[in-house]
Amino acid sequence: MTRHVQALVVGGGISGLVCAYALRKAGIDAHLFEASPRPGGVIQSVTRDGFLLELGPQSFSATAQLRVLIQELGISDQIVQAPARAPRYVLVDGALRPVPLSPPAFFTSSLISASTKWGLVRDFFGKSLPPGTDESVAAFVRRKFSPQLLDHLMGPFVSGVYAGDPERLSLRSAFPSLHEAESSAGSIIRGMFRTAKSKTGPRERPTLLTFREGNETVIRALSTSLGPAMRTATNITGIAAEGGGSFSVCVESNGASDSISTKSLIIATPTNVIGNLLSQLDSSFESLFALVEYAPVAVVSLGYRRSDIRHSLDGFGFLVPRSSGLHVLGTVWNSSLFPGRAPDGHALLTSFVGGATDPSAAVLPTDELASLVHREISPVLSITGDPVFASVTVWPRALPQYNLGHGDRLAAAAKLLQNHPGIWLAGNYLRGPAIGSCVEQALAVAKEVREALEK
Ligand SMILES: Cc1cc2nc3c(=O)[nH]c(=O)nc-3n(C[C@H](O)[C@H](O)[C@H](O)COP(=O)(O)OP(=O)(O)OC[C@H]3O[C@@H](n4cnc5c(N)ncnc54)[C@H](O)[C@@H]3O)c2cc1C
Repeated sequence: MTRHVQALVVGGGISGLVCAYALRKAGIDAHLFEASPRPGGVIQSVTRDGFLLELGPQSFSATAQLRVLIQELGISDQIVQAPARAPRYVLVDGALRPVPLSPPAFFTSSLISASTKWGLVRDFFGKSLPPGTDESVAAFVRRKFSPQLLDHLMGPFVSGVYAGDPERLSLRSAFPSLHEAESSAGSIIRGMFRTAKSKTGPRERPTLLTFREGNETVIRALSTSLGPAMRTATNITGIAAEGGGSFSVCVESNGASDSISTKSLIIATPTNVIGNLLSQLDSSFESLFALVEYAPVAVVSLGYRRSDIRHSLDGFGFLVPRSSGLHVLGTVWNSSLFPGRAPDGHALLTSFVGGATDPSAAVLPTDELASLVHREISPVLSITGDPVFASVTVWPRALPQYNLGHGDRLAAAAKLLQNHPGIWLAGNYLRGPAIGSCVEQALAVAKEVREALEK
């Protein structure tokens, strides 16, 4: 006999786990099925040879909702915080230059040309409106400021968040606050000030966090809280409509198939899987979701003897403008940010290669990736010895690209979903790829599901 559950979440990355957790907290009998043997999706922390590695995200920005979640899960005491004033650098003309993090630093920075500074003054005192069409991040920065700002700061920042191509990323989808600021106030700066002023509630200072034993701590805590309501190594292979507003979900586990029926289905997988799963309900889902591109990224962690690195490593790490010609997009100095990342006398540096602007580099053989990164970062950090440790993780579909037309695609998906009440989507292609944004979106979905069930 087919088993019925009140709510079923497909996918046990942070989005699915948080959604299932919030539903169960609200007294809903929610179950989560994750295809791989371990939950967490791209969030994976492992210890090897005394180095504590993050195979996906290296840390996350604190948001108010994340703080509450961490507190509820009882893991606040395991948080470790990066030094608040850790400088970030960009590599320009072969040298690391600090990223200006305050208005005075911006105006005195040698990274920013006089014409860019003048662009900011013009923005503050002037009035502009975004074009009516979807504008790329690159076109926006060139229109409002300068090509130099795009190359030196915005491009590297876009690599850091999306591993994206600013020529193709949509400003209104990838950085909605910038688009809204200009639309509503006629000026980015005035609009941002206005938004900051209107925010109520406690202000969250921008800080980077992880846990003593790595990002995966939050995954373990969520999994523990779900207990037997979470099943790993369980692949969802099909979804069909049953009568009476229910869905029949085909589940494969240990070579056996089964089906489960539910009226509330939350799909928290990457978009290619969603398209596939929902194609039985409407084939348009597949073609629509196929249009969401993902960028591949290789995460390369190298361990060195500290004495073999002459640079002070005083900061967060550095980002690399695409004009530099390097394959490395950026490097995080893990052991400068958090304790216990490397054995005594050693340093751990994690670099990212590939992204939307250099996809073929991300899929080079792993030993080539390790030597490429060593070759490229050695002159920057004055590294004199070979790495004593290397780990390479390749994510062929690392990050969804909020490219031009992304907003229209999401709107079309929402419209299609109106024909299938009872299905919700959660994931990092909706409100931003950052862990905090995934948590926010997953909690919002859980609220909608709860409200629908209460009707
Ligand atoms: C290299 C890298 C670096 C990053 N750096 C940062 C950072 O520094 N800070 C930050 O905030 N964010 C960072 N991010 C982004 C952030 O980690 C992700 O956006 C977020 O973790 C995605 O979570 P998710 O649950 O939406 O998706 P995923 O983690 O992709 O989870 C989806 C889950 O669905 C499962 N699944 C797929 N198909 C099925 C199926 N048929 N049946 C059942 N389960 C299925 C998958 O196995 C997977 O576990 C980074 C991401 C990457 C890849």
